[in-house]
Amino acid sequence: MDISRVLENFRNNGFEASYFETKEEASAYLNEKIDGTTVGFGGSMTLNEMGLIGSLETHNEVISHWSVPEGMTVSQVLDKAMRTDVYLTSANGASEKGELVNIDGTGNRVGSTLFGHNKVYFVLGINKFEENLDKAIYRARNVSAPPNAKRLGKNTPCAVKGDRCYDCNSPERICRGLVVHYRKMSSCDIEVVIIGEKLGF
Ligand code: SF4
Repeated sequence: MDISRVLENFRNNGFEASYFETKEEASAYLNEKIDGTTVGFGGSMTLNEMGLIGSLETHNEVISHWSVPEGMTVSQVLDKAMRTDVYLTSANGASEKGELVNIDGTGNRVGSTLFGHNKVYFVLGINKFEENLDKAIYRARNVSAPPNAKRLGKNTPCAVKGDRCYDCNSPERICRGLVVHYRKMSSCDIEVVIIGEKLGF
């Protein structure tokens, strides 16, 4: 993949865009940029593998439903995370043309990428990229969602078989909404941070 061209495509679509060879370099960059503010997290194996909750919470107020404070419910944390200054998530798929694809079940994560924050960061490994939007959507549905369903312990055919999406009708289906960012949303700044490593699903 031609990283320079991908970065240019994202910038032409209105996003800020940056690239780092390693997750450690990307983490240092994000810790420098995000300081002394409130930060909401979408559930993300990529952010988890980077240890970003732990590093950012040393100098920010971090809100994540993967780290529910005593005395709060998951719903309260999800609600609070939607009202932070900064929001971080990854993507289930991305196109080399500069588009982002996300699938959600609860809606908190994709909702926050659309509205409500001053700045949103999409942090994604090189493995999330496909040549075009159709392939990125296929990836989100067939490559990213099944291991996520398995990780969440869902009773879905993809979690049991682990090979592809079955477009299931399971009550535990995790794929309920699909959001494509063709361009940066007009209401907030969005930066795409690409890392030259395989991260997340
Ligand atoms: S629609 Fe169902 S089978 Fe397909 S990835 Fe989502 S949960 Fe799995």
